[in-house]
Amino acid sequence: MVKTFRDWLDQPFDYEWAVRYLHGRRSLAHYRYVVAVWITAAGVAALTAIPTAVAPAGSFLRNAVVGAVVVACFGLTAAWIRGPWPSQRLSVGFVLFADLAVAAVLLSVEHPFDSMPGIALYAVTGVYVTAFHGPRLITAHLGIATTMAVVMFVLVIAQSDADAWITTSRFFVVWPVVIATPVLLRGLLANLHHDAIGSFRDPLTGLRNRRGLHAAAVDLLDVPADDAHLSVLVLDIDDFKSINDTHGHAHGDEVLELMADRIATICGEAAVVARTGGEEFAVVIRADQVEAGALADTLLGVVSRPEDETPITVSVGIAYSPGVRRADIRAITDLVEKADSAMYAAKSRGGNSRFIAR
Ligand code: GH3
Ligand code: MG
Ligand code: MG
Repeated sequence: MVKTFRDWLDQPFDYEWAVRYLHGRRSLAHYRYVVAVWITAAGVAALTAIPTAVAPAGSFLRNAVVGAVVVACFGLTAAWIRGPWPSQRLSVGFVLFADLAVAAVLLSVEHPFDSMPGIALYAVTGVYVTAFHGPRLITAHLGIATTMAVVMFVLVIAQSDADAWITTSRFFVVWPVVIATPVLLRGLLANLHHDAIGSFRDPLTGLRNRRGLHAAAVDLLDVPADDAHLSVLVLDIDDFKSINDTHGHAHGDEVLELMADRIATICGEAAVVARTGGEEFAVVIRADQVEAGALADTLLGVVSRPEDETPITVSVGIAYSPGVRRADIRAITDLVEKADSAMYAAKSRGGNSRFIAR
């Protein structure tokens, strides 16, 4: 049990990945607006608690605490609307602020029985923390939420004349909402996360597939560079069908794996390498025409080795653009198409060669 919990705590979860994923699907801004609406609502909830629930019976300190939370909520609303999406560190700070602000307001209200349903606000923070953060912060959040649910229950029983049965019933209405939301959502998201990563990869070679190529190419453009050169190379194995016909499909698969390995090794981390079709590969790299041509020559030499059990050759098409702007997905698609046509031009010249698109 303890070990299972510890394994769970150690499960990796990549904040940057979640943010990039939503950014790539053009939905990150929507999330910012949803968070802004939620923070506004929380601010309004605190503000409307002041006149009768906190003041006039509440002390100056209590009013000041709630007032500060209201101001902070409206400030955060503005920050979320303006953007950009916060860094991981800021996002953790935001979660801790939200959890502690809810606690501060609940404890500032004169009658704990009135503020007890406010525990349900932890469910909203729970959705945010589960969507973007890992098990450790989720656990910390659930700990704070549960502690507060218990504290409010004890305060109501000890300090007010509220009915103990109704209070107990209230506890068992709000506490499961707060706990169940992150726990159920986490299981779903962990599976979707796993499948989403898989859907960007080719299972045979482990390289990216066409979808993964586009996502990673968009990321490549996001990284600031000295210039905006972008080259795409498309490689297609010559007469691959005859390898399958002669040696069988399984051997054909081994050849594909070997080729994938060689291409990825030569291109290195700076390039995005994908298997875009049966025996077709694509490379996206920040390189000018001359550098892309040199890379194609290296690949032609490395891929075709006479000493291989089943020697092969490839045809390489190259397309180049001197200026590709950030997030210009269309430009990437165009370059891949041009490189594909150039590859056919190389093939029509007998294969085992490269051709640069004009
Ligand atoms: P070309 O020189 O014109 O490129 O001819 P080719 O034989 O390489 O190309 P063609 O498109 O005619 O045939 C591609 C072959 O690749 C046919 C298909 O069976 C095979 N293929 C596609 N995907 C896989 C795979 O995942 N594994 C194996 N072993 N073969 C595959
Ligand atoms: Mg081929
Ligand atoms: Mg082909």
